[in-house]
Amino acid sequence: MRLATITNWAYGATVVLTIASSTTMLLASNAQQREREAVEQRYRLDQATATLGDDIFALSDRARQYVNSGDATYLVGYRAEAAALKPVEQRIAHIGDAGASESELAALGEAVRLADLLRDEQSAALAAHEKGDEAQARQILFGAEYERQLDRAEMDLRRFQDRLESRTERQVAAATDLSRLWKRMSEIVLALTALLVLCVLYFVFKQRVLHPVVKLSDVVNRLARQDFEAEPPAIDQIDEIGDMAQAIRIFRENGLERLRLEAERDADRAMRDLLSRMTQRLQGCDTMDDLKEVVGRFMPEIAPGLAGCLYLLDRRRNRVVEATNWLDPLHSRPEFSALACWALRRGVPHRPAGASIDVPCDHVERAGDAPLDTLCLPLIAQRETLGLLYLEPRDAQGDGLTGPEIYLDILAENIGLAVANLQLRETLREMALADPLTGLPNRRQLDQLLEVQLAEAGRLGRDLGCLMVDVDHFKRFNDVHGHDAGDMILREVGRVLANATREAGLAFRYGGEEFMVLLPGFSADQASARAEEIRQRIAGLQLGSEAGNLGPVTVSIGVAITPLHCPPDRLVRTADAALLRAKAMGRDRVEMAQQRDAFAAT
Ligand code: GH3
Ligand code: MG
Ligand code: MG
Repeated sequence: MRLATITNWAYGATVVLTIASSTTMLLASNAQQREREAVEQRYRLDQATATLGDDIFALSDRARQYVNSGDATYLVGYRAEAAALKPVEQRIAHIGDAGASESELAALGEAVRLADLLRDEQSAALAAHEKGDEAQARQILFGAEYERQLDRAEMDLRRFQDRLESRTERQVAAATDLSRLWKRMSEIVLALTALLVLCVLYFVFKQRVLHPVVKLSDVVNRLARQDFEAEPPAIDQIDEIGDMAQAIRIFRENGLERLRLEAERDADRAMRDLLSRMTQRLQGCDTMDDLKEVVGRFMPEIAPGLAGCLYLLDRRRNRVVEATNWLDPLHSRPEFSALACWALRRGVPHRPAGASIDVPCDHVERAGDAPLDTLCLPLIAQRETLGLLYLEPRDAQGDGLTGPEIYLDILAENIGLAVANLQLRETLREMALADPLTGLPNRRQLDQLLEVQLAEAGRLGRDLGCLMVDVDHFKRFNDVHGHDAGDMILREVGRVLANATREAGLAFRYGGEEFMVLLPGFSADQASARAEEIRQRIAGLQLGSEAGNLGPVTVSIGVAITPLHCPPDRLVRTADAALLRAKAMGRDRVEMAQQRDAFAAT
């Protein structure tokens, strides 16, 4: 049963009991009034009948006193009273007025009439006394007959008084009992009303005050311990407790909002830390492999709901090629034309299934009619497109792209800058290691690579051939045709050497007009044949300049094989010695190293 129903019933019962209590109190008061009236009536009757005996027997007493004393005043008194004597009804009327009943009055009237009947004897006695016959007079007034009648009248009078007494006593007792009964009743009903009121008050206090206050206090304690799971009870009563519950609810909501904001701020700070760390690592990358590792390691942390690929633009082929991927992306091809991606075509992020509808990219496979919610972020630095950051939700139902999008732009910018830095560094490095005139690796790179090749040859137990190539009489070309023509000759010789060693890729500009070629795994015959081939190709060059034909260009080549001709550390010098011999033997020829070359190289 609802609390309101219970309290309404209790209120109703209290009202009924209060009315009953008031009624019984009124009845008790009424009964008391009646008791008072009964007592008053009894008092009035007592008063009215107090001197009744005196009145009735006054004449008899006067007559007897006169006869006994002979005092004339008694006789005068007797005659005055006898003359004033009214009829019986008049004499007892005041007793009727005082409340005596008809039957009681009739009994009283009988006693009075009996007393009045004695007046004849009294008259006879007074007459006898006047005649001087005192004895006769006494005989009449104090005789047995007179006494008997007097006693009878007295008895009637006493019987009337007893009857009256017992009646009034009964009336008073009945009124007292009734008054007491109603008084008790009113007390009981009043006590019940008070008890019910107390019960109702207790019930209401318990339900409306105590219970809610205990619950609210529990919630406040938990909230004070930062336990915002504590749900305030739903109290919608309009009073101070309702206000308190509302205030606690608002306090809790504020606390939850604060927690949410703190969690958001912490997540944002953690994300910024992560981004900052990733940016630092990106800046510290020395090679593209480092960059791929950093991207592959950090991306799943920054956007755990997104799988993705890092694509780099291969400028030579104008293709976008996958460099690395994370969390197993499924829908984008590993290589595609730059035109297949709208982000690369437009130079801005592209999301076909976001808030605004757009066309899907061609490099993304379509699962159905609706485009996948993918995101392509172009990697742009110094207004140059370098690649693409591609992201797709891991779970088709998930909301992968909702959270970190704001960070992804920054991320793409940072990755783009890092790629640009690396490419710039790579260019600088290539520039530092390459000879600017011929494009061949320079002496510095030769030093590094020679060490590697020697170690490799030693480890694998294979031969390493070395060709030392020098342009014959090069100084003359410079002197006759100019320095530019000399440069052109060097470029052409460099191209022949690069092509002749394409499979191995180990032709170097050693310095000036000298070149070196390393031939890993080449036997003496193979190396000699390759040297001969180079010599012939250069000799076959038809070179001309503005000044006219430059004439034939020839080279002399010294060939050495380690470990065939020399130990590894003397390979270059041995080849150089063979070259010197070729020069000495008339130039435009290939000379294989000999024992003495190795000695000469020590
Ligand atoms: P040989 O047949 O004995 O090798 O005679 P050579 O003239 O080729 O040798 P030499 O060492 O006397 O001359 C080399 C010349 O190459 C000297 C130098 O001016 C020239 N030279 C060195 N480097 C360059 C360069 O980068 N460009 C041009 N045009 N000339 C260069
Ligand atoms: Mg030379
Ligand atoms: Mg030289």
